[in-house]
This record gives sequence, C-alpha cells and structure tokens, in this order.
Amino acid sequence: MAIPFYGLTLDQLRGHLVGLGKEKFRASQVFKWVYQQRVTDFSQMTNLSKSFRESLPEIFDMNPLKLSQHLKSEDGTEKFLFDIGDGKTVETVLIPSSDERLTLCVSSEVGCNMACRFCFTAKQKLQRRLTSGEIVGQFMGVQDAIGMKRRISNIVFMGMGEPLDNPDAVFDSIEILTSELGVNLSRKKVTVSTSGLVPQIPLVAKNRVRLAVSLNASTNEIRDHVMPINKKYPMNQLLDECRRYAFETKDKVTFEYVLLKGVTDRIEDAIRLKNITQDIPCKINIIPFNEHPNSGFERPSDETVLKFQKKLMDLGVHVLLRKTMGRDIYAACGQLRSKFEGHPERFRAQRPSKEMAL
Ligand code: SAH
Repeated sequence: MAIPFYGLTLDQLRGHLVGLGKEKFRASQVFKWVYQQRVTDFSQMTNLSKSFRESLPEIFDMNPLKLSQHLKSEDGTEKFLFDIGDGKTVETVLIPSSDERLTLCVSSEVGCNMACRFCFTAKQKLQRRLTSGEIVGQFMGVQDAIGMKRRISNIVFMGMGEPLDNPDAVFDSIEILTSELGVNLSRKKVTVSTSGLVPQIPLVAKNRVRLAVSLNASTNEIRDHVMPINKKYPMNQLLDECRRYAFETKDKVTFEYVLLKGVTDRIEDAIRLKNITQDIPCKINIIPFNEHPNSGFERPSDETVLKFQKKLMDLGVHVLLRKTMGRDIYAACGQLRSKFEGHPERFRAQRPSKEMAL
C-alpha cells in the first residue's frame, strides 16, 4: 500500500528514498515541490529524472483530505468539514484576527475520551486518533481552499480531541509544518492545548511550541466535577507542570477558562483563579460557555462575563475575553460534525448559515 505523503517528516521521507537507493537531497527536492511550490503531481517535479518521477505515485499517496463542507460565518470565521473515510469526519476552523494573524484550529482526534462534562466532542467517545497526515492534511486542505493570497500564520490544537492523547501524530505534524523546507511555520506560532495530561506536558516544551491548558475551574472539587481527568492528575500537579514549562521555556502558559453559569463564573472563582495562577507566568483566556442541547450547563449573562473579566483585570491578571465566533456556523467544538452525521434536529433553533456550494 502506498505511504500517505502528508504524514511524512522530512527525515522519514529521506529514510524511504535512501532505502530506494536515491540520494539524500532528493527528499528535500520533493518536500519543496509539495509544500513550497504546491505541486502535488509527481510528474511535474522537473528536477527529478523521468523514471524516478514515474515511480513515485506507486510509493507515495498524495491524496488530499476530502473537503465535504465549507461554511462561512458572518463574523469572518470559516469552518471546514473533512471526510476521512469510514463515514468519519473532522472539523477545522479558520479564525481571522484584526491584525495579520490567520489562525487555524485543527482537530487531533475523532471524538475524545477525556469526558469533560461541558464539551460536545466528549459526548462522542474516542472513535479514532488522527494520523500526522490527516492533521497536515487539514492545514493543506484549508490553505488550498482559501488560496495562497491568505496565508495561515498560526495553528492551535483546540479542535476536536485531546492532542496529548495522540502525541506522536501531533508532534510529527508540527515537525512537518514547521520544516524550513516546507511551509516553514514558526514554532512560536503553534499552540498545543491540553485538558491536563500532566505526564505528556514536557513534550510541549521539548518540541518548542506553546502550551495552553484548559483549567476551567478554580478549585480541585469544581475541576473534578467538570473535568474528570482531574481525578487522575489533580490541579496542583497540573499547575506544578505549568510552572516548570514556563520556567524552562521562558514562555507564558495560556490558561483557558470556560465560564459556566453558577459553576465557574462567580467573583470568588475569579479571586481563587488569580491566587492559584499568580506565581506562573501566564495569561488567562476566559471563554463564555458555547451552549449546546442537553449539556446541563448554561452560558452566563454578558454582564456576569464582563464582571468576571473586570475582577481579574482589577487583580492585575493578564486576561483576554474570547469572543464566541461562528455561532451561526455551529463553530462550537464538534457541532458541525454532528450536524452532518445525522442530527440536524439539534440545530433547528439556530440561525441559518451561509453555506458555500462546493
Ligand atoms: N482537548 C484540548 C483541546 C480541545 S478543547 C483541551 O481540552 O484543551 C479546546 C477548548 O475549548 C478547551 O479550552 C475547552 O475547555 C473549550 N471548550 C470545549 N467545549 C466548549 C464549549 N461548549 N464552550 C466553550 N468552550 C468549550
């Protein structure tokens, strides 16, 4: 069976080609064609001999991920749904900012086993971990769909799944996308977000990318309740590991904090949040809960959200309020996928989206 090309790091490609009796530098040539020139048809790689070019399609599979939906939100967010076979789909979200940034939020798994109580993806238990080729494929698929005039500048692993539950594929995909001979994305512009798989966190520093941690609670008890992974790796262990990351990398940790009405949104939560994070170089992203049916949680009022933010600001915390984007295109984690896998009734209450014909 042919090897999926998008899943290969430069070193792995080199290994394959050297194994076939080719010179080492051939791997760099092919890599540059694919990622820099965006030539994916081997027959057009004119600095390779004709017989070599002709042999490549038998060895490597250059199939892109199949884009099955592309939705555009009124606020500029775009959502992509890729068909990865076996009736399974993954979501990828493109988020423009007012500055030059164009951030891609990629998925690392189909479904997820972390069981966070408020998360829609968690309702769909882990079905499969994505391969490095499928993660790189999301990037290439979106970049191809939007054209080269708009270059994706940042990647966040905040889509479906727990990236540190699939570290080999995640860090290989990062290696591929940050290769100087490839897309050449800066490692500083890649963020891996975790629900708190403490033993794997050192891999984030080792791979020189940024760390985001979904803290989502101000006490162990609340965190046990909303994120069961906390029972395995309690908050003090998680915070110790974050402190170590910040010390080693001289980089700030981003803490994500979802505001759940009556559960995590009280003023005493804000005060405790400041106290537990104050000795860690960090910033805090507060995210009002994005509601979905039967979640058992509610989104706090805008007034409560602003009060919570103001309290943190008054306490001197570096805090950002993440706007909920793409509500009209089901951009909350896992929702688009569910819509297209046979649960359209869950979305009837929402505004109609602008769906782009493919
Ligand atoms: N598993 C990883 C990455 C995926 S979740 C992690 O836990 O970090 C990405 C972020 O979305 C997390 O901070 C999570 O807490 C948040 N999130 C999940 N469902 C949400 C919802 N319905 N509303 C708001 N934020 C949500």
